This record gives sequence, C-alpha cells and structure tokens, in this order.
Amino acid sequence: MEELVALSKRRGFVFQSADIYGGLQGIYDYGPLGVELKNNLKAAWWRAMVYERDDIEGLDAAIITNQKILRYSGHEATFSDPLVDCRNCKSRWRADHLKEAKCPGCGSKDLTEPRPFNLMFKTGIGPVDDGSSFAYLRPETAQAIFTNFKNVVDSTSRRPPFGIAQIGKAFRNEITPRNFVFRVREFEQMELEFFVPPGTDEEWHRTWVEARLDWWVQQGVPRDRLELYYVPEKDLSHYSKATVDVMYRFPHGLEELEGIANRTDFDLGSHSKNQDELSLRAKVMANVDSNTRLAIQDIESKKWVVPYVIEPSAGVDRGVLAVMNEAYRVEKLENGTERIVMGFKPHLAPIKVAVLPLKRNHEGIMNKAVAIKQMLQKLGLGRILFEDTGNIGKGYRRHDEVGTPLCVTVDFDTIEKDDTVTVRDRDSMQQERIAVSGLSAYVTNRIAG
Ligand code: ATP
Repeated sequence: MEELVALSKRRGFVFQSADIYGGLQGIYDYGPLGVELKNNLKAAWWRAMVYERDDIEGLDAAIITNQKILRYSGHEATFSDPLVDCRNCKSRWRADHLKEAKCPGCGSKDLTEPRPFNLMFKTGIGPVDDGSSFAYLRPETAQAIFTNFKNVVDSTSRRPPFGIAQIGKAFRNEITPRNFVFRVREFEQMELEFFVPPGTDEEWHRTWVEARLDWWVQQGVPRDRLELYYVPEKDLSHYSKATVDVMYRFPHGLEELEGIANRTDFDLGSHSKNQDELSLRAKVMANVDSNTRLAIQDIESKKWVVPYVIEPSAGVDRGVLAVMNEAYRVEKLENGTERIVMGFKPHLAPIKVAVLPLKRNHEGIMNKAVAIKQMLQKLGLGRILFEDTGNIGKGYRRHDEVGTPLCVTVDFDTIEKDDTVTVRDRDSMQQERIAVSGLSAYVTNRIAG
C-alpha cells in the first residue's frame, strides 16, 4: 500500500485533499493521471451497462437530496454504524471493526457502549440558517433512481426486466476512514438498479453476480483475486433479501469491492402510497407523503406490479485502488536495474500513447511529432501525449511507471528517409518500425482492439 500511495503522489494519481492545510481526513483528490484512470474505469462500466446492452438506461441525478427521500428509504432511521468512544483519549471507533474490547489508539479498555451514529451529511438549503430547512448529501446514488422510476418508465416505455444505471458521488461520514481511497467520506459509486418481475429476482441476482465478476476480470482483476461473500441474514441491510459481496484482496486485506443486493420491492414500495401488492419487507415503511405509485400496470389484467430490484453497486475509488494494485509490478532487468511498470489494460491506461521527438531542438522532428500527436488524438481513444523532454530512455521509464502502453519515437529516419517511427511496447519493451501511414490503424488495434 505504501508503494501505491507514494507512486500516486509522485506521478499524480491521487493526492491528499487540502494537503497544504494539513489535509482533510478521508477526503482525496485525483491528479492528472488519476482523473484519466478514473474516467476510463467509469467509461468501461458505462459501456458495459448502457451501450453494450439494450435493456439499461442512464441517469445523472442530483447529489443534494430531499430529506423525505432518505426518510422513506429508511436511511434516516437505520443508516448508521455502531460507534464507541474511548473515554481515555477521546477517539472514536467503529465497534464492529474492533478486534478486541480496547482502543486501537491508546490501548485503553475504558470504552463507551456502542451507539448508532448516522453516516449522512446534512447541508442547509436556502438563506435561512436555523436548521429547519436542510437536505442530505446522498449516501448512495440509488435513491434517485427509485424516485425517478416513473419518469424513466414514462419517457422510455421500458418494462421489466430493465435497468437504470448511474455513476456519481456519494457521501458518508465514516467514523474511521482509512486505507487510502478504500474507505473515504466522499467517493463515487457506479450503481445499477435492475428491475425485474417478482419471482424472477433470485435468478437475475445470480446472473448479475456472474456478469459483474466477468467485468472486473476484464478490468485486469484476476478471478482468483476475487471472492464471493454471501452476507449472513443478520448482517443484511434493511432493504435487502440477499446480498453477495464481491471481495477483493486489497493490499490491506480481503474486503468489499462491490455489493450485489436483492433489494426486493422495498424501495419502490416505500416511496409509493398505499400499495397492497407489496412484500412484507416493503410494507413496513408506511408512507404518508407520496402520492405516486412506483409500479408497472399490466396491460391485460390491469393489475399493478411492483418490480423487484437487483442492485450491483460498485465503488469507483475501490475499483481504482484494485486496478492500480493489480497493475503495479517491479521487474528486474537484464542489466541489473529495476523498472516499475503499471500494466494497465490499454482501455484503462491514463495515457494511451506518448509521442516523443528524438531531438528537442530539431524543427523537422518536432513538427512531425506534433503532427503525429494530433493525428492520433483524433482517433478518440483517450489522451495522447506529446512530450519533448529529449531523453528517450528516461521517457520510456516514466511511461512504464504510469502505464502508457505505447511510446512512439520520431527520429531522423522518420523525416529524412522513410516516414516510419519506432513504436515501443510497454510490456515486452520490444521496438518496431511502423510506417506513419499505418500508425493510426496500428494504434487503434493495440489500444481499442
Ligand atoms: P462497507 O461495509 O465496506 O462499509 P458497504 O457495505 O457499506 O461497505 P455499500 O453500501 O454496499 O457499502 O456500497 C456499495 C459500494 O460503494 C461498496 O461496495 C464500495 O465499493 C463503495 N463504498 C461504500 N462506502 C465507501 C467508502 N466509505 N469509501 C469508498 N467506497 C465506498
């Protein structure tokens, strides 16, 4: 973990937020390469969910959330972790994370009884600051998918099985944020709510668990580094009938990367008024404020059906950490030196191609390199970097360390002889001469193929 944290800062993946003011605990900023990696991971998820299927729509809802949404979702009452205070050093800990009944900070056994601590951030709305009008920062993106259910159904004519996908920020006032970007207070989620006819939910749950495992493997996280954890009934969230966690071997241990829950009809039911057809779980949340019916009417029988929901919910930040951890390797070279390589899958690499002019002050070479950069950039594969530091060997090492799959070097032969460039492969370190006329096709094939 220390090596990843150091590399993240050195190369510009992740920075501690507000570090010039001593930081803010559990809050991180993504740097020039981190933002690319994160965007690429989110784009891969969106592609797999929305573009490559024909049964999922996208959504981008607001972060600031009406209090009532989180009251009827059950979060006001139950979205809490058990908190204990150390009476000796005044630190606070999550009771369920303590291995022994003593303070991990000072070792004192003088701890308070656990009490529930609500994890939601509140914020004032409007100019009056008397605490009467507040909203929440959403603790999960899911709720706005449920409250927009009817809007999406009415505007797209979807009928179950179909899903709504969303990527966005979520906020939790974690008692003990830790392990770099693994447990933070501001993070991003990639959430799918997949609505299915009741009775088909268990089958769909299994289907989504498999689909999500496959997706992580495609992102470079090997199957044997992932485990499924079937959450015992006593530990299930208030909305869940069954949850399967995708666990990953993070540098600090085996922990949750993604949760895949069968949320039943709980959420649609609890945001609706007086529905008779609900399961018992959803009926518990008797709703007096909503006049909406979040349900689907069967065209023939005219009966209303509240779909069940399967929710694969993945953390972007945990995904970035997992992908970085898998990509990181230190290789011994034949000449006795070492190189650090981030072996990202090409679609995730922050920089796809670096274009390096062999000689810095040579106008012909520089112009050619700029032209090649612009040509490759137009392919729409992601960031292509023109970099004129002049030292090719150092450039290769630097790009190994940030995971750039290909380096293209423009030299004298390029402009004087045969219009070819050297393409150097990150993983094999092999170099080959490629004609500039065929370079776009070559790069497209290597990066997108
Ligand atoms: P944990 O048990 O680790 O606190 P959770 O079960 O509360 O997680 P969910 O509510 O299932 O998490 O959220 C779905 C996903 O959102 C998680 O699998 C995780 O990837 C991500 N996530 C949740 N909380 C955080 C956090 N504090 N920091 C970063 N990612 C988070």
